Order: sequence, then C-alpha cells, then structure tokens
Amino acid sequence: MPPHKKAGPSVEMIPEGDTRPRLVCPDCGYIAYENPKVVVGAVCTWGDRILLCRRDIEPRRAYWTIPAGFMELGESMAAGAAREVMEEACAHVEIGRLIGIYEIPRISQVHVFYRARLAAPHFAAGEESQEVLLFSWDDLPWDDLAFPSVVWALENARRGGGPFFTEAPATPWPMEFPGG
Ligand SMILES: [Zn+2]
Repeated sequence: MPPHKKAGPSVEMIPEGDTRPRLVCPDCGYIAYENPKVVVGAVCTWGDRILLCRRDIEPRRAYWTIPAGFMELGESMAAGAAREVMEEACAHVEIGRLIGIYEIPRISQVHVFYRARLAAPHFAAGEESQEVLLFSWDDLPWDDLAFPSVVWALENARRGGGPFFTEAPATPWPMEFPGG
C-alpha cells in the first residue's frame, strides 16, 4: 500500500471499469479492494481421540473449537492449518486429507479443514486457548462447540470419506461464525 498523505482509502466510489463501490484514496487513487477470507484448520487426532481447544477470545469465548484461523499471506492452506495448531494448541501435526470446504457467503468466508495427526501426545493451551484436551468421539462437547463449521468438520471427519462441501444458509445462523 502506498503512503497516503491524508485520509487514505476513505472515499466510497465505483472505480472506472468496476461495478461495485470501493474505498478509494483521494490523494493517490489507491483502491482498497476487500475480498473473502479463507479460514484454515484441522481436526487433529491422537489415536482415536480428537484435540479441541477451549477459546479464550471472543467471539464464543469458553466454547470448544478445532484449531483454526485466517490464512496468512504467502502460505499454503495446509501450512496455515499446521501453524494454527501450533499457535492454539502448541502441538506439532502432520496434515492429512481434506475433510471439507464450508462456505459462508453472508460473511464472505471460506473455511477449509483438514485431518491431522499429532506427532506426539504433547500439547498445551496457546495464547488464544483456555485449555486444550483430547476427547473420544462419544465425549465430544457437541452442545458447546464454537461455530457451525466446527460441527460440520467434526461430523464429516467422523463419517470418513469426503471431501465434503457445505454452504451455510443466507439467513443468520443461531450459532455465530467468527466475525459474523
Ligand atoms: Zn493514498
């Protein structure tokens, strides 16, 4: 992004040749395009148990999630998923097959979740987690999961096969998504 002298991209207008309003910098003409974001994560297993993190950040603080978060620039989806596992659960994983793609057009997000195997039964709560635990499938806290896409990924991982695909309904969901 160029150095903006004053306001930066602050004027809403449809740039020439475009069809949608964008925020444009009145000084240098820089256009701040906003596009959907990709969330990557992993259903991590040690034997037949599944690793979940209890969130220590909003939204959905204290609810359980698989390690997941926004992709960073310049990384692959699998590398991003492994990074999120390290950040939120302090665990090394080997990323495996794609479980599914879950898209939520209402909030312009695409969630891509993989299977992963813990390299060792070593994990701990990262900065954004209150605690990290291994659950058996029968003991998963289904009623206390953080986001719909976490429910879908766990259901799909348990079923096996795939990859699966789900598009969230356009109406607001009873259970909120991150950022929406
Ligand atoms: Zn500018």
